[in-house]
Amino acid sequence: MAELKKRSELETALTWDLTMIYPDTGDWEKEFSTLDALQENFLKFKGRLADSPETLLHAFQAEDALGVVMERLYVYAHLKADEDTADSAGRARLERISAKGAEISGNCSWFQPELLSMDEARFDSFRKDETLSFYRRTLDEIAEERPHTLSAAEERILSMASDVLSAPHKAFSLLNDADMRFPSITDADGSKTELTHGNFIKFLECPVRSVRKEAFSAMYDTYAGFKNTFSSLLDSHVKTSVLEAGLRSFPSALAASLFGDKVPAAVYENLIGSIHGNISSIHRYFELRARKLGLEKLDMYDLHTPLLPECRMEIPWEEAKKQVDESLRLLGDEYHSAIGQAFEKRWIDVPECRGKRSGAYSSGCYGTPPYILLNYADTLDSMFTLAHELGHTMHSYFSDRSQAFHYASYKIFVAEVASTTNELLLHHHLLGKTKDPKMRAYLLNHLADEFRGTVFRQTMFAEFERDIHALAEDSVPLTADLLSENYFKLNRFYHGNAVSPDDRIRYEWSRIPHFYYGFYVYKYATGFSAAAALSRKIIAGETEPYMRFLKAGDSKDVLDIMKDAGVDFIGGDPVGEALRLFDETVNQLGEALGR
Ligand SMILES: [Zn+2]
Repeated sequence: MAELKKRSELETALTWDLTMIYPDTGDWEKEFSTLDALQENFLKFKGRLADSPETLLHAFQAEDALGVVMERLYVYAHLKADEDTADSAGRARLERISAKGAEISGNCSWFQPELLSMDEARFDSFRKDETLSFYRRTLDEIAEERPHTLSAAEERILSMASDVLSAPHKAFSLLNDADMRFPSITDADGSKTELTHGNFIKFLECPVRSVRKEAFSAMYDTYAGFKNTFSSLLDSHVKTSVLEAGLRSFPSALAASLFGDKVPAAVYENLIGSIHGNISSIHRYFELRARKLGLEKLDMYDLHTPLLPECRMEIPWEEAKKQVDESLRLLGDEYHSAIGQAFEKRWIDVPECRGKRSGAYSSGCYGTPPYILLNYADTLDSMFTLAHELGHTMHSYFSDRSQAFHYASYKIFVAEVASTTNELLLHHHLLGKTKDPKMRAYLLNHLADEFRGTVFRQTMFAEFERDIHALAEDSVPLTADLLSENYFKLNRFYHGNAVSPDDRIRYEWSRIPHFYYGFYVYKYATGFSAAAALSRKIIAGETEPYMRFLKAGDSKDVLDIMKDAGVDFIGGDPVGEALRLFDETVNQLGEALGR
């Protein structure tokens, strides 16, 4: 293998241009030195928010002025540090701004509590005051917190206990990531490698079934040995959520988690209901997969191995750019010219180089380009990653340009919609021009697997999460046996008769970190469904609603933003519609595989 280039040896055109944030690191230093004054300018409003609407307006403005600078300093420092993780100056800069950020957020945490402790009638008169009309949406959101806010003394106790209450999550992470060790696996070439979280999926992709089985068994036999510790951690975590929800007068832990996004529990239930109603679709895909792999039945370790391992495509960067650009032409001129800027004005850091952070992301700050970090590897996956990250970047770009800083950052609920839409558009584009049945099958299988992982699997997790919280709310202790039995039944239902799962899958719950994130995973499934609906509209020539979505930022509630874009999670059935796209994909895959 050729040695990796140093950063200084890269072609400039393929690196990002961070001078659009600060011309050089000296300018970063200069702005860093303004932080204390900006902070003081905000802190001087402490204890005075109730004085008058004008005072509150100026406090909000001071907070935004501080926020915009903090974000710019932080984003520059982390982008710069990711160029070369071995560069100690870069690391030091990032550590300085992170520490400063923690200090500032600690100093500024009085703002919302002070507003909530204000006399309610006075607060309501402020909300209606024209002086504060720009911040009304934020004030309304704070007002909605009021019924779930405790007395100052109670809030103080909870905040003092917060570190202790998060102990189960912390202990899970340490046990799972730092302390667990797995046996060595004999790879297809006879070499032995220690199993890790990082290489587990690689082993499950191995075309040799015995290797997959060995890795699977080794993984879950290890977890089985810790099942009581893991169940006790998850039980404590769930009980903590139930306790906090109860203390804050929420009807359930689920309702408490959905509250911030103003998503009714019905959306969560509808997701699970839609999947249940269409569960045969995924079973059909598993049957197809079993036939193609020549197996009577699949096992859980047969879900990741590629159906068409012989299909490898080499896609150089210029070609990927061209394909992605063409696939997004459907979105019209405004979008196209923004993409042109991303490529021409160097928003993207393309090649891998020595010390560069691995993976890919989109990140930026208000008023400057949303940059993309890639480690482009000339593969189909890499090209899809480019489309994905460009989706994030365009969402940030259009929201920033259309919204003030205060309302520009979109919520997690909608965060993966634009990225997935781009992937689906690229998929549509490539499929439209590919005649070779093997290549078509490869693409269709790629999409079917995305659906499996993002919609079906995440909904299964969401259902498990809902059920174990409901059990805890009924005071049922979540023992290892109970969790494993529930998980096993659910896994059976989601995989159907084409999969006869190794009994060890019952311990999978114990290794999923997302169960400590509080009803988070359902957003992957709803986001993908929304993207499926939007990409269909775009392909049918309807781009206006999508552009509206990109420009909305956080100016409205997430379900209203989606509804404006024609995706109605309350009155409609976007999940059901997405599943029709999945059905079509499976049909086409069956045809392409010649069966
Ligand atoms: Zn993403």
